[in-house]
Amino acid sequence: MQRVRATLKQGVCLVAVSKFHPVEALREAYGAGQRIFGESHVQELMAKEEVLPKDIEWHFIGHLQTNKVKYIVPYISLIHSVDSVKLLKEINKQAEKVDRVVDVLLQLHVAAEETKFGFTPGELLEMLAAGEWKTMQHVRVVGLMAMATNTDDEGQIAREFDTVNQVFATVKECFFADEPAFKERSMGMSGDYLIAQEHGSTMVRIGTTIFGERDYGKG
Ligand SMILES: *Cc1c(COP(=O)(O)O)cnc(C)c1O
Repeated sequence: MQRVRATLKQGVCLVAVSKFHPVEALREAYGAGQRIFGESHVQELMAKEEVLPKDIEWHFIGHLQTNKVKYIVPYISLIHSVDSVKLLKEINKQAEKVDRVVDVLLQLHVAAEETKFGFTPGELLEMLAAGEWKTMQHVRVVGLMAMATNTDDEGQIAREFDTVNQVFATVKECFFADEPAFKERSMGMSGDYLIAQEHGSTMVRIGTTIFGERDYGKG
């Protein structure tokens, strides 16, 4: 935990990605002062949220199905992975029911892999220009999230993060110029966060480097 923190630039927020790790591992990180944890499965998050201290800020970082939104909206601090208007609408609807405004990031697809979710830059601008999101009073868009291609080519990774920054700048100027809260770029994981924070990241999502390898067998 401290070892990872020591490598972060000032002002970069650390999300400790605890998916597939047992509650004891989270307690240990909590004991070391960590308060922001990222999970990517709703059931697992619900089970952990119930037993862990209430001052933890939970971030949802995985692909979120609309039918599960209602389970996390009452307490989630930030949803990183909004990849459709339909999902945004559902978050807004559920947040209204519990009288909350939920912070979200829009997920941008910049990686070469088809498997990753998110809006392409063109789709994102189109969706924002359509403007339906402006009517949603119970969600607040605070930035973008992206994953780079899983590759050893550091130049490619850096270029993908630069693309995120360019799209961020355009979106900020066109749609959020008067919204200081729109400032986050969630990018960088264990393998590429050192590159990400040199290329504009404000928030890194780190699992393996903090908690070790995940045991998917038990998840
Ligand atoms: C699992 C996951 C991470 C953390 O990955 P590590 O390589 O273990 O640091 C970050 N972001 C997302 C979206 C993830 O699903």
